[in-house]
Amino acid sequence: MSKRSFLSLDDTELATWLAESSTTHAAALCSAGHVTPRPNTSDLPSEVPAASGIASSVPSDSTSPTAFGSPTAHRESACEPNLRKNFRVSQIRRWTDQVGVSTFEAMSNLPKALRESLSKTFTLRTTTVLEHQGTPEDAEKLLLQLYDGERIECVLLRDDKEHRTACISSQVGCAMHCAFCATGMDGVVRNLESWEMFEEILRLGELLPAGERLTHIVVMGMGEPLANLSNVYAALERASRSEDSNGMGIGARRITISTVGIPSGIRRLAELGCRFHLAISLHAPNDELRDAIVPANQATGIETILEAAQYFFEKTKRRVTFEYVVLGGVNDSPSCARELVSLFRGKPALINLIPYNPVKGLPFHPPHSSTVAEFSEILERAGIEVAIRYRKGEKIDAACGQLRRNRT
Ligand code: SF4
Repeated sequence: MSKRSFLSLDDTELATWLAESSTTHAAALCSAGHVTPRPNTSDLPSEVPAASGIASSVPSDSTSPTAFGSPTAHRESACEPNLRKNFRVSQIRRWTDQVGVSTFEAMSNLPKALRESLSKTFTLRTTTVLEHQGTPEDAEKLLLQLYDGERIECVLLRDDKEHRTACISSQVGCAMHCAFCATGMDGVVRNLESWEMFEEILRLGELLPAGERLTHIVVMGMGEPLANLSNVYAALERASRSEDSNGMGIGARRITISTVGIPSGIRRLAELGCRFHLAISLHAPNDELRDAIVPANQATGIETILEAAQYFFEKTKRRVTFEYVVLGGVNDSPSCARELVSLFRGKPALINLIPYNPVKGLPFHPPHSSTVAEFSEILERAGIEVAIRYRKGEKIDAACGQLRRNRT
C-alpha cells in the first residue's frame, strides 16, 4: 500500500495532519508573497454558531487568497485554529463515514487544495474488487483483495422488508475449522483491522442505488469475530455512530455479532456493555455431535457457552440468538430437536434453523424441507421461539469462504 488508508486515521490524527498540512500550505503561500493565511469559512456548516468567532468575523470586502485556496479571507481570532480543525475533521468524516465517497475529489465542499493534499497523502480504499457475483434480487457477493494481497468475501443481502444487510468478514480465513464451512478448510491467515472491516461495509454500500442505504450489519462472514474482538467492536462502534456525529447511523440493535461460541469473548462483550445483538452458532444439541461439527467445542463444551450466554443476557438484557445449520441426516433428527428443547426450555433465546447450503468438496447435504418443518414444530410445541431462515445466494458461491476458495 503506497499511501496510508485514510479510514485508519482517528480524529486526533486527522486533526494533527490538518494542522500540519495547513501550516505547510501557509508557509508556501507566505514565502510566495501572499498575505498571512487565514481560514476560509465559506463552507462552514450552518451549525457553527455565529458566536464562535468564525462566522461573525467574516469581513464583507476581503478577496485575499487563503491557506486553503479560497478567495475569501477573514480576521483571525485566538479560537479560530481549533474551531477550524474540529470543523474540518467533522466535515471530512461526514464525507467518508456517512456519505461513503470513495475519492477525495468528490468532497465538493472542501477547498481544492485540501482535496489535492488529501489525495496525495491518503487513499480512501485499500481494497480492490476482484469479483462481484449475484444480483440485487438475490444476494451480491464481493471478493476483495486487501492491501497485502490477501482475499476476503463480503455479502449484501436485501429482503422485501426493505432491509439492506452487509454481511462482513472479521478475519482472513478462520481457525475454527467447522466441518461444513469452506473458510475453515484453510485455517486463519490474519485478523482484519477495524478500518478494513469498515471498508467492507462501505464497499457493500456502494452496490446500492442512490437513495438506498444499508440498514443492518452482521459479522457472519469469514472468521471468528470474538478472536478479533477489539477490532470488530471498534468497526461496529464506528458504523453505529449517529448521523449527528457524522456516522452511518446504523442502530446497534440492527447489528449482529455471530460467534462460534468463545465463552471468554462472550463474557468480555457482556462486560463492555455490548449494545449489539449476539448470535451463537450452536449447530448441535450435545457435545459429542458438536465436537465433530464444530471442533472448537472440544475446548469449551456447550454448557460453558450457555452459561456465558446467560451472563451476556443478564448484563446486557439482550436476548441471544442461537444459529443451527441443519445438515441433512446429521443433526436434523427429532431426537436432536428434543435435546435442544431440554437445553433451552424456559431460557430467553431464539433459535434460527438454517437449512444447509452445499459446499463443493464437503460431504454434507441440505435437509429435506419436511424434516426442517418437523424439527421446528418440536421446538415450538415446547414453547421455544424458533425461526427458519433460508440463506440466499444460490448464484453466488453462497457459503462463506466458497468464492475465495474457488478463485485461489
Ligand atoms: S463457520 Fe464461521 S467459525 Fe466456523 S469455520 Fe466457518 S467462518 Fe469459521
